[in-house]
Amino acid sequence: MRRKLAAGNWKMNGLSGALGEAVALAAAHPAPGIDILLCPPATLLDRMADSVHGSKVAVGGQDCHPLVSGAHTGDISAEMLADAGASYVILGHSERRADHGETDALIRAKTEAALAAGLAAVVCVGETEAQRDAGETLAVVGAQLSGSLPDAGVTAETVVVAYEPVWAIGTGRVPTLEQIAEVHDSLRAALKDRFGAAAEGIRLLYGGSVKPGNAAEIFATSNVDGALVGGASLKASDFSAIIAAL
Ligand code: PEP
Repeated sequence: MRRKLAAGNWKMNGLSGALGEAVALAAAHPAPGIDILLCPPATLLDRMADSVHGSKVAVGGQDCHPLVSGAHTGDISAEMLADAGASYVILGHSERRADHGETDALIRAKTEAALAAGLAAVVCVGETEAQRDAGETLAVVGAQLSGSLPDAGVTAETVVVAYEPVWAIGTGRVPTLEQIAEVHDSLRAALKDRFGAAAEGIRLLYGGSVKPGNAAEIFATSNVDGALVGGASLKASDFSAIIAAL
């Protein structure tokens, strides 16, 4: 039985005043059973980690550099995220793949760095609308999965995979439940082919316009173990309603 995970991606949103949302979320979910993760901008990471310390809410980064340290202005290493209180890091988000030209090979190197620093990696895959229209969805996400994960160290504790169709992120559009199930079943099969029994415990999240109103049916879909939530994770009340549907 895989533990459910609700992960919030704040992207480039949130000043100091937003920390109250994390505190409210922590207060609303005292009970064990579901893993809850908030990934704020790096500027809030250590303060958020302090704010939710001792609660159910874990804190994560939104990206890391593949190297431990060095002359890489503006970048943050996995070790630095861990030092700031993170236990997870999102890698390969489609916005980073698009805005920063991140390749599967780079994401794989970042995943290796995350694992070496003791962070769990939330590795994102997802097709564009043109790729879906061309019938390439399973091939695209399969290639991203295969290229973005390292051969060693992938377990239920160290890696989470998030399926995020690019055309569903921040648009209010969501695939049909059949489309979500098809991709998640195919990701599960690919993980089993590559990692054997260890793959059974790897969590598969759906991401893309998850809201309180559609969360329950998405969570009831085959091989969906939780969600990666953008906009609706910014307010504790919205994110709590999504968590309650898990
Ligand atoms: C995301 O940022 O990963 C995401 C899924 O965003 P939204 O929930 O806003 O579509």
